[in-house]
Amino acid sequence: MITVKDIVSELEKLAPPSYQESYDNSGLIVGHLETEAHAALLCFDITENVIDEAIEKKANLVISHHPVIFGGLKKINGKNATERIIIKAIRNSIALYSAHTNLDSVRGGINTVLAEKLGLSNIKILLPMEQALFKIAVFVPNAHSAKVRQAMFDAGAGHIGNYDSCSYNATGTGTFRGGENTTPFVGKKGALHSEPEIKIETIARKENIPQVISAMKSNHPYEEPAFDIYRLENKYENAGIGAIGILPEYTEAAEFLANIKRVLPVKVIRHNSLFKKVKTVAVCGGSGATYIGNAISAGADIFVTGDCKYHQFLDFNNEIILADTGHFESEYFAAEIFFNTIHKKFPNFAADLSHGIFNPVQYF
Ligand SMILES: [Zn+2]
Repeated sequence: MITVKDIVSELEKLAPPSYQESYDNSGLIVGHLETEAHAALLCFDITENVIDEAIEKKANLVISHHPVIFGGLKKINGKNATERIIIKAIRNSIALYSAHTNLDSVRGGINTVLAEKLGLSNIKILLPMEQALFKIAVFVPNAHSAKVRQAMFDAGAGHIGNYDSCSYNATGTGTFRGGENTTPFVGKKGALHSEPEIKIETIARKENIPQVISAMKSNHPYEEPAFDIYRLENKYENAGIGAIGILPEYTEAAEFLANIKRVLPVKVIRHNSLFKKVKTVAVCGGSGATYIGNAISAGADIFVTGDCKYHQFLDFNNEIILADTGHFESEYFAAEIFFNTIHKKFPNFAADLSHGIFNPVQYF
C-alpha cells in the first residue's frame, strides 16, 4: 500500500517544506498523510476542473505547484472557486498537496531545471539561502564519541559541499555534579566530577536538526547531554532563489530568445533592448523581477523570469536584458518535476499530468 505520506515524503526529500518562503503555504493543505493514495493528479494550479478530473480518474491526491489556499479562509460556503475546490475535495476524499517556493529553491527544482533545459552549465543558485545552516556542538565522554558522531552523520549532519562526515573534535574536561534525583553515568550523585570529554562540532541544515539531535541523544551515555545549537551566517549554496549558469559561448540575444521559445510553450517574450550578446544567464521562475539587481551583481547578461513591469524594462534598459516569458511559462516544468520524482521511487504508481494545466493569461 502506498500512502499519501509515502508520496509526500519523496517530494519533500527533493523540496523540504522548511525551505518555503514565510508568505507561502506549501504542504498538505487538505487530507491525511495516512490515507492510501490510489492515484495522483499533477498540476500547476488547482482548479475546479482539475478536481473533476481527479474524481473521474479516481485520483485521491492532487499535487500542485501553487497552493490552492494562500491567505486564510474564514468561511467555506462555496462563494468563490477556492471554497468550492476545498468543499469538493473534502466531499470526495481528495488530498491536496503543494510544493511551491520550496520547489523553486532547491537543486532539481523549478529554477535549476529551467536553467538545464535552456542549455546552461556550471549552474549555481543565484541567491543562496540564508539561515539554513546550523552548528551543533556536543560534549561526549571519549569512549562514546565515535558512536555519537556517526549517529549524527547518519541523521544528516556533517555535509559541506560534496563532502560528508565533516566534524571538528577537540579534547577537554567536562565538569558536573548530579543533584538529588540523578543517576550519573560516571561520578557519584552530589559529588563534583571531572570527565575527559570530546567536543564534537558539526554542521546541519535546519530540516535535519530534530533527527540529528534525537540521534545524538539516543547514543549519548549521559542523562543530560550538554549540547549547543547555533545558527550560522554561512549561506547554503545548494538552495535559494533563482539560478545562474553559462552558455557554451557568447550567443546573439535574439538567438537565445528563439531557443527559449523552443524550450518553453511561449508565444511572446517581452524583452528590453537586446544590446549585447549573452553568455551568463540568470533565471527565476514565476514573479522573479524583484531579483533583477541580484542577476546584475552576479554578472548575468540576461535574466529570464516572469511578471516584469514596464518600469523594470525601462530602468534596466542597456544594463541587463530582461526576458519575460510569462509566469506560467517560466514555471512550466513543475508538474514534470513532480512526475519524475514520484515515478523514480514508485514506477508502478499511477501519477498523471492533469489535462487542466493551462495558462490563465492568454494572448490575442
Ligand atoms: Zn508561480
